[in-house]
Amino acid sequence: MPTTNDIRAAFLDYFAANGHQIVPSSSLVPRNDPTLLFTNAGMVQFKNVFTGQETRPYSRATTAQKVVRAGGKHNDLDNVGYTARHHTFFEMMGNFSFGDYFKAEAIEFAWTLITRDFGLKPERLLATVYAEDEEAAGLWRKITGLSDDRIIRIATADNFWRMGDTGPCGPCSEIFYDHGPDVPGGPPGSPDEDGDRFVEIWNLVFMQFFEDPPGVRAPLPRPSIDTGMGLERFAAILQGKRDNYDTDTMRALILASADATGQDPDGPFRASHRVVADHLRSTSFLIADGVLPSKDGRGYVLRRIMRRAMRHLHMMGTKETVFHKLVPTLVRQMGAAYPELVQAEGLIRETMRGEEERFKAMLERGLALLEDETGRLGDGQPLPGDVAFKLYDTFGFPLDLTQDALRGTSHAVDVEGFDRAMQMQRARARAAWAGSGDTATETVWFEARDTFGATEFLGYTTEQTEAEI
Ligand code: ATP
Ligand code: MG
Ligand code: MG
Ligand code: MG
Repeated sequence: MPTTNDIRAAFLDYFAANGHQIVPSSSLVPRNDPTLLFTNAGMVQFKNVFTGQETRPYSRATTAQKVVRAGGKHNDLDNVGYTARHHTFFEMMGNFSFGDYFKAEAIEFAWTLITRDFGLKPERLLATVYAEDEEAAGLWRKITGLSDDRIIRIATADNFWRMGDTGPCGPCSEIFYDHGPDVPGGPPGSPDEDGDRFVEIWNLVFMQFFEDPPGVRAPLPRPSIDTGMGLERFAAILQGKRDNYDTDTMRALILASADATGQDPDGPFRASHRVVADHLRSTSFLIADGVLPSKDGRGYVLRRIMRRAMRHLHMMGTKETVFHKLVPTLVRQMGAAYPELVQAEGLIRETMRGEEERFKAMLERGLALLEDETGRLGDGQPLPGDVAFKLYDTFGFPLDLTQDALRGTSHAVDVEGFDRAMQMQRARARAAWAGSGDTATETVWFEARDTFGATEFLGYTTEQTEAEI
């Protein structure tokens, strides 16, 4: 049975043997793109090559790219722990053609790799095409022999990719694997497509047009290819599993979580172990790429991920700080492919320990408050926004942590009420300052406050604030 490390290597070798340059993963913090929170696809490091602003000494490339999808356009955070196929951190394998080959070769490369080299059975596979892309439908039929009912036409934006409002764009094909009728879920394009039965493994983007101004498209003289394959989803299939979290790497992390907490990996805390295993990877890789937990921007997304993992560890009954104890297992699993993990191991562990130490007391008291408040609610009644806001402001609970904590209960957070409470506090803070006459100070104060968030700057309005968030 191939390990995840074997599969990554086989993918890169295959494309290298077919004339592709193996290019290292870029950082999770995108360079030259302040609008993007985290690198969320393999093509991110090649954006300027696709637009023609930059040239490289090769026209074909292949990568294993570190990716985080926990905010912005692609946000899979809420799925993690609860579906078989979503992570916040995952590896996206890709092959790229910069004005070199196009649709026919891209389809042929992918099909040959998965059916010939990796031995997937064609009767388990389906392909989608953009509804207007007859050319792609014809190529799938001709190259792969897939019957017409296994080539599914999709008319939505899922199968039409664009880089932004302007720039390169074009139709996509997605390759799906059918895990079989005993897994719930329908084929792509059907009403119950959101299950784990038909899993998207590989997305081929055909960059065929250039759009500028918005709405006006011209064919590109030298069209390009961008593909992304989910390594964990693919490893699950090759290892005979239906669930990404049962692959070698993810299972090792789950067992480390079970070991550190003393809780059965497949018992009542199954979802918690999965959240912890996933968040261990996103946390460690983000810190290795220089992101540290903080009050805003990337650092706040990292903090949300860390605190969420810590809540799950806490629920499993841990008294000491434990998150950092899982890092060596991750380094053993992935350190050879990503040496930055080995290099940053000490920093990762210290950052986790510090954050957990600071958060643990607040977490305990906040959860007690939450329990108390939900105990007073009738069945199905939402948690009032001001309670969620108090948890946020006084106890350092990111909103999504509270929402995650209420998962599986009949209560949801009144998000509008939460936003109102936030606005009201801002207004109160402004009013408290009005009349000081020192407008310059005021402006600076409010700018800082809006940048850094309420807690630190409003310590005087609440009797007990978070020690240091
Ligand atoms: P899905 O529809 O399943 O959310 P997607 O269409 O958003 O996937 P792409 O943007 O096409 O995903 O990314 C390329 C590939 O990366 C997908 O075909 C899939 O194999 C993998 N992938 C996407 N999101 C995740 C995730 N959250 N966790 C693990 N693998 C993922
Ligand atoms: Mg998605
Ligand atoms: Mg998709
Ligand atoms: Mg896709």
